[in-house]
Amino acid sequence: MNPEKINKYPRIVIMGPQGSGKGTQAELIAKKIGVPKITTGEIYRENIRRKTKLGAMAARIINKGNLMPNEITNGIMARELKKPNAKKGYLVDGYPRNIEQAECLEKIAMPNFVIFLGARMPIIIQRISERRECGNCKAIYHLINRPPKKSGICDKCGNILVQREDDKPAAIKRRLQIFRTQTKPLIARYKNREIFYSYDGEKPISVVQKQIFRDLKKEGLI
Ligand code: AMP
Repeated sequence: MNPEKINKYPRIVIMGPQGSGKGTQAELIAKKIGVPKITTGEIYRENIRRKTKLGAMAARIINKGNLMPNEITNGIMARELKKPNAKKGYLVDGYPRNIEQAECLEKIAMPNFVIFLGARMPIIIQRISERRECGNCKAIYHLINRPPKKSGICDKCGNILVQREDDKPAAIKRRLQIFRTQTKPLIARYKNREIFYSYDGEKPISVVQKQIFRDLKKEGLI
């Protein structure tokens, strides 16, 4: 028996390049199975919005497409995973992004289901460059695939839609380079442990969602 699979609380990692649909699937899965979703990028963006000291540092680093220091990110994750609501499972989105983070996560609570969403480069670039988000409620739109009813305005709260600074071309190039060199090598780590599940992130959201739920069920995690 694979020891990672003995504890049946879902401890899920979702990985994939920017624009692979990771955020959308993370949202759907966490809601369906009722585990907390911990999204490191969102935690940093929230700090930027609230103008905290951490937010000031994050703005400088994130807008260029670089990674925040491991020490800070690991600290945030450790704190989140120690909260009582994470005791019966978790879903982490955007973490781990390199080996050091993976080692940190494994020490706290070993993941037992790692989702990888793949997509080809031209699709990724197209999805990201057309992505817009509500400056207020953070709802996400795509100018072609999921446009708002009224151009430039959020359907949900009526606020103005903006392009994330790190979705602009120079930062995107850097983010994808970091994904290739630092995050992708984690695939081998999880494949070796037989907890790795790969999906085609170019397929429609509902198709990928069904496939993920099928596999979670197969593993007895839902
Ligand atoms: P994301 O929306 O997941 O692409 O995250 C946006 C930005 O937040 C990233 O480009 C990084 O600058 C920072 N960030 C998010 N997660 C991490 C992480 N696990 N390690 C370091 N930096 C991170």
